[in-house]
Amino acid sequence: MISSARRAASASVTGRTVLVGTVNTVLTPVGGRHPRPCGRGRWAAGGVAGGMSAATRLRRLDESAEIVVLERSGHVSYANCGLPYHLGGVIAERDALLLQTPESLRERFALDVRVRHEVVGVDAAARTVTVRDLASGEVYAETYDHLVLSPGAAPSVPDVPGVKRARTLRTVEDPDALLGALAAAPRTAIVKVFGLTVAVTGWNGKRARAAGRDHRVVHTHPASHAGYYPGAAPMALKLVFDPGSGEIPGAQAVGTEGVDKRVDVIATAMRAGLTAPELADLELAYAPPFGSAKDPVNMLGYVAANLADGTTQSVQWHELEEAVAAGAHLVDVRTAGEFAAGHVPGAVNVPLDELREHAGELPAGPLVVYCGVGVGVHTATRLLTGLGRRVANLDGGYATWKTATAAAA
Ligand SMILES: Cc1cc2nc3c(=O)[nH]c(=O)nc-3n(C[C@H](O)[C@H](O)[C@H](O)COP(=O)(O)OP(=O)(O)OC[C@H]3O[C@@H](n4cnc5c(N)ncnc54)[C@H](O)[C@@H]3O)c2cc1C
Repeated sequence: MISSARRAASASVTGRTVLVGTVNTVLTPVGGRHPRPCGRGRWAAGGVAGGMSAATRLRRLDESAEIVVLERSGHVSYANCGLPYHLGGVIAERDALLLQTPESLRERFALDVRVRHEVVGVDAAARTVTVRDLASGEVYAETYDHLVLSPGAAPSVPDVPGVKRARTLRTVEDPDALLGALAAAPRTAIVKVFGLTVAVTGWNGKRARAAGRDHRVVHTHPASHAGYYPGAAPMALKLVFDPGSGEIPGAQAVGTEGVDKRVDVIATAMRAGLTAPELADLELAYAPPFGSAKDPVNMLGYVAANLADGTTQSVQWHELEEAVAAGAHLVDVRTAGEFAAGHVPGAVNVPLDELREHAGELPAGPLVVYCGVGVGVHTATRLLTGLGRRVANLDGGYATWKTATAAAA
């Protein structure tokens, strides 16, 4: 859809072409509601991925075109692909998914973007679309020379038992409705999203923040069972806890295997009033095909205990920019090969096994250290702290940073 919209946009610049396949539009002034002089024509279409690709491509091809984007939702440019991760708590802030606004698109691309405006009819002969302003209820006709239809798709809900309780995940508003339903429902819930299992219990970080509650967040990326036993699958766990009392307001998990078990254990611990550090002491069933000697839930407990008693400090992925702006230096303690395959911009690479030898060469000032998934970094931060350095680890390591920043991009 996106590439066909781009092709259509390219083809249309040389003539008066009607583009079909997106709901982003670019209109020409034939007496519409907003008549104005134009270059090669006036265009109209819908928003988000395909529509905005077409509209911005058109602008880059023709500075004089008059381009109107009609989008019925409240958002014109957001990362649909990040929605499951926001729901799962990997991306805490919904705002991280909002990529552009009508204002930013007007400024950069001179687009007339009208959100909450629904196209309810097209008269191809008259070259007009009928538009309903969803805020005011006003219905008006808009004229065009070229029309790009990019309405996307609607979720298909299969007719299966229990479907009345099903929710769809398509728009940026959907996670709010879904999380609202979860909050009103029993504390623990689990859903399948594109083959991934997403399980949540209690509060996420966003809710803790909104409630003004002091809290810390721990991200880990453990394997579903011992890594040396075949079939271990990665998962992402997130624990929210109160650093003073140790109380656990909530947890979220995403993965393909073993997610249900970990969230059930944490939900039970919450019900029993266990603290986050006490998760380290839980005796959980262990054999290599089923878990690890230190289960992922135990590991959350160890990390929480270190944060609660000040043994370690952490920086969340979305706090990194601010930490660097404040003078922190980034140190990547993975191997040179892992570093070469991708790293946080600005980081220097000192592999963990060489850190003791090269610690004196690190730049002065505070350090933010990271590894792949936030395990090896603990050794690195303790080593550097022991050498008198002020150190924080990047919570969840490169894995959390990469996933979260990619989804927000
Ligand atoms: C939860 C989720 C996760 C995804 N993850 C991935 C992924 O990981 N990788 C991947 O490749 N793809 C992924 N996708 C798919 C990808 O987001 C879509 O392919 C892409 O958004 C389609 O772009 P589009 O412009 O055709 O449609 P959309 O992005 O749906 O945009 C269409 C827009 O048109 C508007 N519209 C519809 N009718 C009208 C009307 N009558 N008047 C005005 N406006 C109207 C809609 O409100 C909508 O905003 C995911 C999609 C979802 C929902």
